[in-house]
Amino acid sequence: MDDKINELEIDLYRAWQTILKLLPEHFSDILESSRNCQSHDEAIQWSYMIIDKLLELTQPFQDGAEDRAYCPLCGDGSSSSFRTGYAYPEGLRRHLSGDGRACECFVFHFARKLAIRRFTSVDQRTAKIKKELENRRLMEDTFRIEPLRAPKVLDEDKFNSARSPERLSWAENRLKELGFEIHYSARVKSYTQQHGAFVVFADPRGEGELRFSVYKQEQMERVSSPLQLQTSSFFLRDNWTNDLAGKYRTRLAQSIESLMSQNEA
Ligand SMILES: [Zn+2]
Repeated sequence: MDDKINELEIDLYRAWQTILKLLPEHFSDILESSRNCQSHDEAIQWSYMIIDKLLELTQPFQDGAEDRAYCPLCGDGSSSSFRTGYAYPEGLRRHLSGDGRACECFVFHFARKLAIRRFTSVDQRTAKIKKELENRRLMEDTFRIEPLRAPKVLDEDKFNSARSPERLSWAENRLKELGFEIHYSARVKSYTQQHGAFVVFADPRGEGELRFSVYKQEQMERVSSPLQLQTSSFFLRDNWTNDLAGKYRTRLAQSIESLMSQNEA
């Protein structure tokens, strides 16, 4: 029985990959952006947010006085033989979300199910670890390494290894030399640098490199979900010593350029 289920899951996964390949790239990119979600709640939030993105990218056509559009994911339109496509945007929105009497889009339904299911199983497996982490966050120093998400403990992410206290001081000194401000309040540490309209968050927790993420200040103040934040990242290796400030400036400029070229959701 388990073998049969595994086989069906593999078939389903392949079918899904094929659907993604058949879709225009900007639509498949949106469906695959659920990979950025970091929790069950974020996956649910994501499933609502991307409906707006899909609607924005859909080109409606004129039918009489009305704007209408076919579903960009499954190609469906109204079940009425008198009408083509869905009323745009609300009819198409209902088709995607499955609200009301509209026939739900099977492609979007599946994308949402996959995004959420990933965290249902992960959440179950890691419930104990999460509880331990929550306790540690109350007892230990934590690090705000990005805006709008909770601060993390020293070894919460994937590093080769987390730094020792001595190595963390060394990394903090390096950040100070690069012009970073270190904030420490209520056991939360953060390392930031204002750069015109941009803010750089540093993450010195992992041995071997300093990680940096660049954000638009204006966007940080405006949006409420981390999923709406655009960012661009780079790193500096610990063993680089030659013209570190120059290397930092070059990489920061590249990151800012990349951030400027991203289209806002
Ligand atoms: Zn559809």
